[in-house]
Amino acid sequence: MPKNIVIGSHVWVGDPELVWIDGQIINVNGEEAEIQTSNGKTVVANLSKLHPKDMEIPEGGVDDMIKLENLHEPGVLHNLATRFKINEIYTYTGNILIAINPFQRLSHLYDASMMKRYKGAAFGELSPHVFAIADVAYREMINEGKSNSILVSGESGAGKTETTKLLMRYLAYLGGHTAAEGRTVERQVLESNPVLEAFGNAKTVKNNNSSRFGKFVEIQFDKKGRISGAAIRTYLLERSRVCQISDPERNYHCFYLLCAAPPEEKERYKLGNPKSLHYLNQSNCYELVGVSDAHDYLTTKRAMDIVGISQKEQDAIFRVVAAILHLGNVDFAKGEESDSSILKDEESKFRLQMTADLLMCDPHALEDTLCKRVMITPEEIIKRSLDPNGAAVSRDGLAKTIYSRLFDWLVEKINLSIGQDPSSKCLIGILDIYGFESFKTNSFEQFCINFTNEKLQQHSNQHVFKMEQEEYTKEEIDWSYIEFVDNQDILDLIEKKPGGIIALLDEACMFPKSNHETFSQKLYQTFKDHRRFIKPKLTRSDFTIVHYAGEVRYQSDQFLDKNKDYVVAEHQNLLSSSSCPFVAGLFPSLSDEGAKSSKFSSIGSRFKLQLQQLMDTLNSTEPHYIRCVKPNNFLKPAIFENINVLQQLRSGGVLEAVRIKCAGYPIHRTFDDFLNRFGSLAPEVFEGNSYEEEVACKKILEKMGLTDYQIGKTKVFLRAGQMAELDAQRASIL
Ligand code: ADP
Ligand code: MG
Repeated sequence: MPKNIVIGSHVWVGDPELVWIDGQIINVNGEEAEIQTSNGKTVVANLSKLHPKDMEIPEGGVDDMIKLENLHEPGVLHNLATRFKINEIYTYTGNILIAINPFQRLSHLYDASMMKRYKGAAFGELSPHVFAIADVAYREMINEGKSNSILVSGESGAGKTETTKLLMRYLAYLGGHTAAEGRTVERQVLESNPVLEAFGNAKTVKNNNSSRFGKFVEIQFDKKGRISGAAIRTYLLERSRVCQISDPERNYHCFYLLCAAPPEEKERYKLGNPKSLHYLNQSNCYELVGVSDAHDYLTTKRAMDIVGISQKEQDAIFRVVAAILHLGNVDFAKGEESDSSILKDEESKFRLQMTADLLMCDPHALEDTLCKRVMITPEEIIKRSLDPNGAAVSRDGLAKTIYSRLFDWLVEKINLSIGQDPSSKCLIGILDIYGFESFKTNSFEQFCINFTNEKLQQHSNQHVFKMEQEEYTKEEIDWSYIEFVDNQDILDLIEKKPGGIIALLDEACMFPKSNHETFSQKLYQTFKDHRRFIKPKLTRSDFTIVHYAGEVRYQSDQFLDKNKDYVVAEHQNLLSSSSCPFVAGLFPSLSDEGAKSSKFSSIGSRFKLQLQQLMDTLNSTEPHYIRCVKPNNFLKPAIFENINVLQQLRSGGVLEAVRIKCAGYPIHRTFDDFLNRFGSLAPEVFEGNSYEEEVACKKILEKMGLTDYQIGKTKVFLRAGQMAELDAQRASIL
């Protein structure tokens, strides 16, 4: 039992509603304490379940969790809540920045004068801020010639993308070209955001502007520290949204933008009312509060101009977008032969004709590719008819393929147009990627997303923990190493080759007789003794992974389909022969791609490879972390829900980082730094001609009455709060 828990102590006690509530102990009976809570209740709880409450916290909370006297879950939570109330949305936990989404414009936080204030300011001197993180990254890059990265994470709607944009804006301010040269690299970098958002973002229940892809932006700098190039990499665009949405979500923004285009442009496409379009009318949501699609259409086109997408290309892009909408309205009915299909009605014929016109391909060939499938057997080539259902699946497949190729084209075009700086030695990478997900049903997408988060968790743990540990070892100071939960075993379960889940999934995809049940049986068999794998009761195909952030139960029924990365050959041939060079360019003929087309390729394996490349890049940089937190699910300002926030702090690894840091000596200073800063506390240590730095440091610490510190070979190691103590003493003698 902590020594400061006695009658009269202020403590935190568990509460079914608020998770934690503060109160005062009014009675202790053996192991049980009676507590009067601040909302007027009396509760009884075991002493071991109580946490001491910090009574010294300043009114507005502390800007770094490390400054809390008692570092524990309720303390961290209370500090965040206290700060959030007065719109202090940023708080450090050592070098991690926690950012709580305010769900309201706090313009004063981000204006030009703020950027000026943060430029070059010592870290920790000003209030916590995204600008401070970007500033440190930039300065480390300039001073030490080392690449840096900023990893932004959090659940959907937590504010990752807005944070990323603020970081980019600030870096453009630091590394911008002073003369306004029009289409500067930094403007192109910034304007890539609205373009990618128009095609890769959509309204979901969690976020009205949800990014449906992951993004890593690499900003390159020249010797003078000016932005000289950039590269954008994207991950896993959600393809299913193109043809399937549920109320009250929307499809990708670009579809609505086009429907709101100026009449003279819209006329060309003959789309009609959005409510008549199958890919849009599966949901009743067409418009967003406070957003004008007509206005955004023009903004998007302007941004396209800036990033270097020509007028002609823009026309082609929107032509393809329109074609996808028309394609969605092509419907099928039973044909004369059994299991065959024909176009359902006049409307379908018109839509098919429009699709073909816009894609500039032959309408009969288009109809054929939708309704029939070519089968190649060793003896002959046969054309098999698809039933209406099969034809609709084929249609949706085509729409998804075209859309994802269009998105990839945009990314590549932006990269080409901004250009890479081959001579750049330093870069700052910014990662905006989906956080850990656990829903009622979890499919292949959640599996990939959670795999990503395991990787990032390992990266951040290794960084926080191993760096700390290595430093202690190097400095030869004694420290009983605390244990931390390594997640290598989960990563092995997922990605080990051979034998991991991804490898087994690929195997299942290549074996024609496999289905999701045989795949799951194989998993059950292989991992029956794995401590991170659970076969839930009463299921033939679900499986559960014990992730670092909690258990997630996956439904495997669509894993095989979603993992297969192939374009139906007929679709490919049809579009690669389009007389529109833009459309044909989206589908380079297979022979161009050489031998690799013959090899089986899977989304899972390709994603794993992409992720490994990302990790390699991150490992060669100095990382900084920003954890975005969503304070409530109403997307409204001023509401702070404890349960929600705690869950995010846990799954974001924030609490783990706090624990790792505080178990050791979070403050390290070289002897030299230490003496420069605190020498004035004991000027006598410098007397005489020579003095030993190590001895001098020790003398200062002793004189100040500190005990629990460590002296390494080149550095002084202090406990959390000790630095502040010394600073206060220094201030008092100045
Ligand atoms: P994520 O990328 O994590 O899914 P977003 O960055 O898109 O989330 O943020 C969701 C919404 O929250 C934004 O559209 C915006 O309305 C609001 N928001 C996020 N961060 C801020 C901020 N710093 N200031 C004001 N509003 C914000
Ligand atoms: Mg986002």
